[in-house]
Amino acid sequence: MIPTITRELIAACGQPGCPVCRLVEGSVAGLLRSFFYEKVNDREVRVRLRASLGFCSEHARQILEMDLGDALGSAIVYHDILTNILRNFPTADEKAVNETGLASLLRRTAHGAAAGVTRLVRALTPQQPCPVCTESERANQAYVVELAAGLKDEALSSALAGSDGLCFLHLRQVAGQVKDEGVFTFLVENHRARLTALNEELAEFIRKNDYRFRSERFGAESDSWRRALEWASAAARWRGELNSGSAYQERSQNKGGTTGV
Ligand SMILES: [Zn+2]
Ligand SMILES: [Zn+2]
Repeated sequence: MIPTITRELIAACGQPGCPVCRLVEGSVAGLLRSFFYEKVNDREVRVRLRASLGFCSEHARQILEMDLGDALGSAIVYHDILTNILRNFPTADEKAVNETGLASLLRRTAHGAAAGVTRLVRALTPQQPCPVCTESERANQAYVVELAAGLKDEALSSALAGSDGLCFLHLRQVAGQVKDEGVFTFLVENHRARLTALNEELAEFIRKNDYRFRSERFGAESDSWRRALEWASAAARWRGELNSGSAYQERSQNKGGTTGV
């Protein structure tokens, strides 16, 4: 019986892009959809989002670009966060730091000015990491550990061999978890071949940009620079496909703290 997580990895290997990136992004998408569908008014979740000042820039962008949230849910969450931030803004005395004149000078003690700055900085500083990042890291860790262990089996190793391969980040993370010499060799040689081929395409692209060879038509190497950028940055070229409703399960390995989004 193949474990569910292994089946997910095998299925992801049949899709474009790094299979681990795909699964982690799928977990995030599922998490955000579930949050906006049923947890916007969950008190514990709202307290958690208040502490993180909402979502990080990456996940806020994902919510916007991938249409993972909804207008009312976002309004409720950020109304709550802004109300809390404003509640913790410096008081009138504390904010006198830039005033001039004798009266304000007398009022503006060093302690008052420092307290205002401290309060403002604290109000605008997340006290907890983005909860989606926390969940994303858990899912990532679970997939990496499973892949490193599961590559001993033919089903998963041949699926990975037939995939687009692991991005830099996940190649590094999976390699760091591998305990089997044969699996490590497979991972290294498979990706050496992929990266060598990509590197040769980059060289060909550079060569054809030379004025002496401008008459030659570009071939498959024409988007090699884009693939290299995506590969190295773990960018999800398939990201838009997640909107089509692929179901991925979130995985977790608790690092502590309340997440719950
Ligand atoms: Zn990846
Ligand atoms: Zn985040």
